[in-house]
Amino acid sequence: MSSTDSERTSRREDSGEITLAEFQNLIREMYYEKDIARGIDGTFMWLVEEIGELASSLRGGSREEQCEEFADVFAWLTTIANIAGVDLSAAIRDKYGSGCPGCGSLICSCRDAEKP
Ligand SMILES: [Zn+2]
Repeated sequence: MSSTDSERTSRREDSGEITLAEFQNLIREMYYEKDIARGIDGTFMWLVEEIGELASSLRGGSREEQCEEFADVFAWLTTIANIAGVDLSAAIRDKYGSGCPGCGSLICSCRDAEKP
């Protein structure tokens, strides 16, 4: 680990928080070469597997297991965004940053039958 890496790591631990953009960069730094080699199709299978594990943990797992599965699902989703070249922070801001994409309201007023 270079000094730059260790400084970055300790800063992250000091703040106790991580932004979406920081997380996407972290995942890219840790796994990008492997992720590109595996590709979107193979990575999507991992995401689906982790979603299954999240469902199982929500049905009968401990709080710690549930937290880990949420993190895994989010990490694999972020990985796919990296492979696809999508900036997750920008995508989420653009779609949800101004309110519900369906009705445009900060408190959704879409009818229940509609998707949002
Ligand atoms: Zn709405």
